[in-house]
Amino acid sequence: MHDHPLARRTCLITGAGSGIGRAMALQFAHDGAEVALVGRSADELEAVAKQIRDSGGIAEAFVADVTDAPGMADIVERVVAQWGPIKVAVANAGANGVWAPLDKLSVADFRETLDNNLTGTFITLKVVYPAMKMHGGSMIVVSSINGTRIYSNRGSHAYSSSKAGQVALVKTLAPELGLDNIRINAICPGAIDTPIHDKTVRQGVEDPNGECADPHTAIPLTDNRPGEPEQVAKLARFLASDDAQHITGAVIHIDGAQSLGG
Ligand code: NAP
Repeated sequence: MHDHPLARRTCLITGAGSGIGRAMALQFAHDGAEVALVGRSADELEAVAKQIRDSGGIAEAFVADVTDAPGMADIVERVVAQWGPIKVAVANAGANGVWAPLDKLSVADFRETLDNNLTGTFITLKVVYPAMKMHGGSMIVVSSINGTRIYSNRGSHAYSSSKAGQVALVKTLAPELGLDNIRINAICPGAIDTPIHDKTVRQGVEDPNGECADPHTAIPLTDNRPGEPEQVAKLARFLASDDAQHITGAVIHIDGAQSLGG
């Protein structure tokens, strides 16, 4: 791995104000990238941007909901005007939403989770594509072990469906975007220590310990300790870099074997 594998590369990361997205933003900036931080909370994004700039990096906050296609397209336009073509895009923004049994989960709540996690990913990739296709690049989608290997978290129907959909999107786009020298890969984390778990709305499936609590989803590698956002960021940095130049359409689980029956 080079010292600055992302030097002078324009990178756009959604959900960059918190958790995994924040760790990726800090990592990418450390690796020399110009980082566009996208998310809903201006305060969170500005705090990350300031932290990056204070340590000599390059970053700017752009506020948008990833489900807002015109808003996201406008951000891409501004990023390109400022730093040039986008070389790396990470569709990371996502939320657990409402977890509830089938008869309790409302259609509106199901739609909202699909909209946030799956349609939001589609929109992110779609608006970035014109800004990447001239020069090629790397797209990374943050999916989950839920919906790809784990189906035992009660009430996670909408979340798991959205995460499964993201992987299908990555696999169908890989051959298409390969013609433009764009690689696209999915990262599937297991339980990672971020604020996402506190935001889960549980209705009839109360489980205060989140993904780790299910005895079928223990984490053998760490004696059940969740992973760190920085560990996921290091995987993203590899996928974003030239060291991954023949890797596309891959689905990489990062979970300490949580999803393999610990
Ligand atoms: P997090 O700390 O809550 O960060 C997610 C960020 O995405 C938040 O800043 C959130 O903003 C933002 N976001 C959500 N919906 C958005 C939207 N529609 N538009 C713009 N921003 C939006 O959670 P995280 O754990 O880092 O999650 C990052 C990704 O990893 C998600 O896709 C998640 O599904 C995936 N993941 C996480 C874990 C885990 O255990 N942590 C495991 C597997 C997969 P708000 O605060 O406003 O919602």
